[in-house]
Amino acid sequence: MTWCCLNGTIMPIEQAAISPMDRGFLFGDGVYEVMARVDGRVRAKSLHKARLQSSLDAIGLPVSVDDVFTDVDRLTEKAGLWDAKIYLQVTRGVVSARDHAFPSKISPTVFLTISEFAVVSQKPVTAIVRPDIRWRRNSIKSVSLLGNVLLMQEARDSGAHEAILHRDNLVTEASTSNVFVIRRQSLITPPLSDLILPGITRHLVIELASTIGLDVIEEPIRVDSLPDAHGVFVSSSTRGLMPIVQLDPGGQVGDGQLTQAFMELQAAYDERLHHHE
Ligand code: PLP
Repeated sequence: MTWCCLNGTIMPIEQAAISPMDRGFLFGDGVYEVMARVDGRVRAKSLHKARLQSSLDAIGLPVSVDDVFTDVDRLTEKAGLWDAKIYLQVTRGVVSARDHAFPSKISPTVFLTISEFAVVSQKPVTAIVRPDIRWRRNSIKSVSLLGNVLLMQEARDSGAHEAILHRDNLVTEASTSNVFVIRRQSLITPPLSDLILPGITRHLVIELASTIGLDVIEEPIRVDSLPDAHGVFVSSSTRGLMPIVQLDPGGQVGDGQLTQAFMELQAAYDERLHHHE
């Protein structure tokens, strides 16, 4: 059974119902988080809390993050899943009339689900490379994901696992993950900006890289430089570090093999996953 928590009430997902006048449904007016629970602990909980706070602030939605995370604790306890994926979203709630501007009185909708899930080491995969067609505020973890949805579908239709995105010839991120390049002993990733999500996994990878002797460089990456990198990978809470060995367009990345640096980083990440607060 999949459990959810809707506005503080825990119930089987089949019993949950929201009004079609919810602004999340009408406008995609809301924000979300996806978290991995590993060995009975929500991984990097404080980082997820901070990011949710910053997304809520960015869209002017006053909701107590501590209260939302109290619901996360109640739901995880109810579900009793040791390894799980937790999805949470907060929208600007139900309105009586459809109007783009915020309603004067807001009663947010807080929705959480938990399902069985284990983070596993990812096999090398192919990515398509496409212009970033999304809006320019991607640091907000918004539920308005149509651009990401279309790009991921294009990847799937091409037999690929991700879509790496670029704007003005510079890599931004991927449709559901952040992008990293390995060149010898350097780990390069685009700097944080409005154009990319500050990924929690990105944060952890940067912390870990120096512990295994990699130089971390946060600088713009030209999209046409990807194929001659020694390695390319993407990162996210649900997939960890996923190596990309083939690009379309672009062809093979480096010699098409996983680098020693990547394998060490992935091992360090797997280890950290089980010990991070
Ligand atoms: N970038 C985008 C567009 C994402 O959707 C995600 C995760 O869903 C990420 C990056 C990675 O973020 P995190 O590491 O916090 O899962």
